[in-house]
Amino acid sequence: MPADLHIHTTYSDGSDSPQKVVERAVAQGLDAIAITDHDTVSGVPAALEAARDLPLVVVPGVEINTDYMGREIHILGYFINIKDPTLIHRLGLLATARDERVSRIVGRLGSLGVHIELDTIRFKKAGTLGRPHVAEALRSAGVVSTIQEAFDRFIGRGRPAYVPRSWYTPGEAVTMVLEAGGIPVMAHPGPADADRMIPKLAESGLKGIEVFHPEHSQPDIDHYLQLCQRYGLIATGGSDYHGHRYRSQLGQSTVSKTVVDQLRRLSL
Ligand SMILES: [Zn+2]
Ligand SMILES: [Zn+2]
Repeated sequence: MPADLHIHTTYSDGSDSPQKVVERAVAQGLDAIAITDHDTVSGVPAALEAARDLPLVVVPGVEINTDYMGREIHILGYFINIKDPTLIHRLGLLATARDERVSRIVGRLGSLGVHIELDTIRFKKAGTLGRPHVAEALRSAGVVSTIQEAFDRFIGRGRPAYVPRSWYTPGEAVTMVLEAGGIPVMAHPGPADADRMIPKLAESGLKGIEVFHPEHSQPDIDHYLQLCQRYGLIATGGSDYHGHRYRSQLGQSTVSKTVVDQLRRLSL
């Protein structure tokens, strides 16, 4: 009874709508999914609605991008109250910061002689903007041939059109999720190189680690299972599915549906 607890939709940088994700999840025989768009919960209602009469549990979620001394750490929030006014306000601030950052990146590209229209990035976006959207605009404009090339040549850290972020800290994101009635979980600590943060975040209310993720090797998985045991955390997992934008497939990394029940119980 598999559950894929890390999925992006068109409300952030995924390429499938929430309805499409639900359709695919049912076709694949998943029992539960979590919609975890970057810094927004706007895709959750459409997924809940689409799954209403289907044998699929949709967990309301979010993936909050945070910054720890220049490193990007992602905090997942499960069973979060998507109508919580404080949460909506705080996510709104993040969305504004993202918009401003993307505008500045587009400005820097312009000063390098690479002109893309912000509106072509924004026109079909209902949710949060990020560098993947700029990369896609560069690819459609024929400036680069792959998303990776856009990051390597222009918008990756240390590249000429890179603009640093100013986001919440991981601890603030954990608090944000808790205050909205949700369960905070550290996303993909392997690629984020975030091990050092786990003990302190566990003290601040972190409840789980995303152990199963396409970018975790078997030794990574064993290592994070041990950390879960040491700090009394739940081992979660998900594919980090982005539709056609990244390699991972829906359902590529899953956990048993009992994990969903554990998370739900904690949120009550
Ligand atoms: Zn992430
Ligand atoms: Zn993600």
